[in-house]
Amino acid sequence: MWRDLHGFQVYLETPGSGLWLDKIESVTLDPGGGKPWLEASSEHFWIRYRAADQSTLADVFKSAEAHYDQITGLLGYHPHGRVPITLVSTHAELEQRIGGRRPSWVYGAALPDALVMLTPLRYSPTFDGHRYADVFKLVPHELTHLILAQIVGYPGFREMPQWLNEGLAVYLAGQSGGEHAIIDAARAGKLPSLQELDKALTGQAPVGNSYDVAGSLTGYLIERYGADKIPPLLKGLANGSDFDAALRQAVGIDGATLEQQWQELLASKNDTQY
Ligand SMILES: [Zn+2]
Repeated sequence: MWRDLHGFQVYLETPGSGLWLDKIESVTLDPGGGKPWLEASSEHFWIRYRAADQSTLADVFKSAEAHYDQITGLLGYHPHGRVPITLVSTHAELEQRIGGRRPSWVYGAALPDALVMLTPLRYSPTFDGHRYADVFKLVPHELTHLILAQIVGYPGFREMPQWLNEGLAVYLAGQSGGEHAIIDAARAGKLPSLQELDKALTGQAPVGNSYDVAGSLTGYLIERYGADKIPPLLKGLANGSDFDAALRQAVGIDGATLEQQWQELLASKNDTQY
């Protein structure tokens, strides 16, 4: 079915995705002039994609719109205008757009004002460790990074620990997991320090389960002290405070205390609490 919306022709029939196609406000099916990129938009997103990826469009919009309110709500910030998403065709093209070589498991990235992601049609358990459904985690994860960068700005981003940046992305994308291994490490006194965690998350040490650990610590911060502490914490970083000062101002504790409380809670969990 073709429908005219805001002057654009929108095709509202893709098997299995009917609900979310209502989220798509506009689709340009023929860009003209031999251009390879097609465009589509929803309330909060604007997607550039190639014709070969048309079938994924509804799922990309779904993954983006479904988490938008939760992410902007918890972080206390709405991006101005629609967030652009570019859907690239290969890992090499992804590297080209975000700059530099990346491990094969990297399948998306947040630039300061746009998201770049590999088309879900290329996700492969064999080649990059992903499967199609991972698109529903990737978009909210990268959207969280984009919004965090916009909130804290360039100077604030240097003060924000990487465990918090990745931890919020993991937490808000519903990627938290691996609790058994984290609890075992806590009991054995083998959890990484926050400095070691940041090294692994910035590629200076093997990544291991660092994303799980960052998600666990961030989840602890939110669940123990309240989600309403996150916007003032980020605002503190945006205003030039270092992390400990911002955390003390927003939550009333410093990073070392947070780390210790979290480790003690993990170490005290028994098997039935897994
Ligand atoms: Zn990330």
